[in-house]
Amino acid sequence: MKKLAVIVPCYNEELVIAESYRRTREALHKLPVLTEIIYINDGSRDRTRLMLDEIAASDPQVKVIHFSRNFGHQPAVTAGINNCDADLAVILDADMQDPPELIPSILELQEKEQANVVYCVRKSREGEGLFKKVTAKAFYRMLNYMSDVNFPLDTGDFRMIDRKVMDQFDRFQERGKYIRGLISWVGFKQVPFYYEREARIAGETKYPFSKMWKFATTAMLYFSKKPLRLATSLGFIAVLVGIILAVWFTLGKIYGFSNAETGWTSIMTSVIFFGGVQLLTVGVLGQYVGILFDEIKARPEYIIDEKKNF
Ligand code: UDP
Ligand code: MG
Repeated sequence: MKKLAVIVPCYNEELVIAESYRRTREALHKLPVLTEIIYINDGSRDRTRLMLDEIAASDPQVKVIHFSRNFGHQPAVTAGINNCDADLAVILDADMQDPPELIPSILELQEKEQANVVYCVRKSREGEGLFKKVTAKAFYRMLNYMSDVNFPLDTGDFRMIDRKVMDQFDRFQERGKYIRGLISWVGFKQVPFYYEREARIAGETKYPFSKMWKFATTAMLYFSKKPLRLATSLGFIAVLVGIILAVWFTLGKIYGFSNAETGWTSIMTSVIFFGGVQLLTVGVLGQYVGILFDEIKARPEYIIDEKKNF
């Protein structure tokens, strides 16, 4: 019989764990397959650890991985996939924004289409601020423009993947994982499933602006070399502007149509402009060098403190 695992990363989710577990369990009960839930406690400092241990003690079909500290959402999901031996896995947020009640329909679609990936596309997003909605929309479109891969738009990590995809995913060595991107990138048969994203049932987002920014830049830098190309183009434009200005001022000096002595404005403008271009291009370059630095150190992506029910 096939086995389906649900992978749930949790960071300071004491307010949602109980309800989240109850709803996920109930949704799984109805399925004609073996099921299990893998919770990854991403270094929570609240009662999440305790609560997950209690659930694992009473339910042998619940596995728990405790990280040694907070490593982040993407490393937590990565650990879930790396430690999953099921035939199918669903990646789910703990806050129930992605309703587990949809799992039976997703499984049905997966079986009907014989798909390797069913990715869930957000038709709408409930209970999220305008800022989050606008930045998320802009991010997915910008990433598609910047990268050579065509990612499905408005799609989070909520998806079902099969063994084939998990086996390929386990081979990825890179430390800055943009999981939804990598799963698109592996190919095979991928089909969309449309749903309405709900509001968080309790608690607050664990993605403050700083984490969102890190997430977005990791995706851009790991999936695109376009910023480097744009930096080069900017350099070309700057050189062109410089040449035109030089010619203009020289001719102006000779034929007397530009008064170079009073040229304070033009000097300031070009100094600031070229200074800006240089800082920007060096900054972009620095970002990629930073990635190389991290990759060469080759530190583990996450450290596991304890595993339960494995
Ligand atoms: N999460 C995590 N580690 C982190 C931040 C978030 O494991 O450092 C988990 C969190 O517990 C939740 C999921 O990732 O299950 C998505 O986070 P959240 O709902 O806060 O993000 P949002 O939906 O607001 O983008
Ligand atoms: Mg959420």
